[in-house]
Amino acid sequence: MASRGTPSGSQTSLREANAARVLHAVQQHGGITQVELAETTGLSPATVSSIVKQLLVEGSVETRTTIRSGRRATLVTLTRRTGLVVGLHLAVRSLRVLIADVGYEVVAERVLPLPHDHRADTTLDRAALLTVDLLEEVGAGIDEVIGVGVAISAPVDPGSGVVASRGLMRGWEDVAVADVLAARLARPVVADNDANLAALGESRFGGARGATDLIFVRASFGVGVGIVSGGVLLRGPGGLAGEIGHVLVDPQGSICPCGSRGCLHTVVGSDAVLDSLRVSHGPLTLRDVLSLAQQGDPGCRQVLEDAGAAIGAVVANAAVVLNPSLIVVGGEVGSAGDSVVTGVRDALARRVLLNTDGPVSVIRSELGPRAEALGAMAHVLDREGAVTV
Ligand SMILES: [Zn+2]
Repeated sequence: MASRGTPSGSQTSLREANAARVLHAVQQHGGITQVELAETTGLSPATVSSIVKQLLVEGSVETRTTIRSGRRATLVTLTRRTGLVVGLHLAVRSLRVLIADVGYEVVAERVLPLPHDHRADTTLDRAALLTVDLLEEVGAGIDEVIGVGVAISAPVDPGSGVVASRGLMRGWEDVAVADVLAARLARPVVADNDANLAALGESRFGGARGATDLIFVRASFGVGVGIVSGGVLLRGPGGLAGEIGHVLVDPQGSICPCGSRGCLHTVVGSDAVLDSLRVSHGPLTLRDVLSLAQQGDPGCRQVLEDAGAAIGAVVANAAVVLNPSLIVVGGEVGSAGDSVVTGVRDALARRVLLNTDGPVSVIRSELGPRAEALGAMAHVLDREGAVTV
């Protein structure tokens, strides 16, 4: 009988290195199929299958049958271990709290509307209280939380962790969001801009899985993009990378809350959109405009189409600079209809250089309103290093 022999030292270390790669990919993506694991790690399907069997025996992962693209597939997740992670999205008019285990399985979720110009101290108090309440609902304590990730609709200075720029989220300037919440919850907290974290979320769990060069367009009350380049999130030293809302589009335009004249925000921000409908429609909220447009109201459709075209033109310029393989469109406005997706596609189609190798894909956010909070969780587990082999 042929003996397979004892693996040599180098074979053992190769197997261990491959197992670590597989485990890291499972942690990064939450649930991932064996086929996707092979694509992500570059290992052969047979090697992935044998490593997954080994990790199952060791109790590091669990598998279950799922459906991908209409076919049965084996989904691999981390074994549910002690440890939860919290993802918060502090937006202009809403607060979302997600609680998940370390395999990114969401176990609780809550969304609260926030008042216009909500105050930092009150909102952070509410966020802390809601987090504790939700943990209680799932029978967990704050001591089980590995960390809290916060996505916020403003630039965050990566060094100091403070909300970086004046006027972009009124009343939140210079607030050290992560420090304040860490003091309230007594757990590690990391904070970053919501478009950045949505880009991270989509690249880990959404429609951009595995993409190393992408732009996430977050069109909401304001507009900004998150940029992943070469697999790394671009922030810039002041956290201002991707603030396309403050790109000059109209030299004779209005003064923007940031202090400059004629920023994209002055054309497509919610105030501009609502102002342009005031004479014809009276006072509306952004949600009214989105739902009226969905019902076919021509005026509301027109302003959203114009906003989509203006955003598309700036995103196409950014794409010429950054050469992404994929553009993901999200945020309340980006997700509500086709205006932003169409605006970006049309503008990209006119940039000849970008189409040399075929058109750049433009897709709608797969994670929808959860993209930012899920990205915040990924940011926490990246920092806290939840996986040990
Ligand atoms: Zn501006």
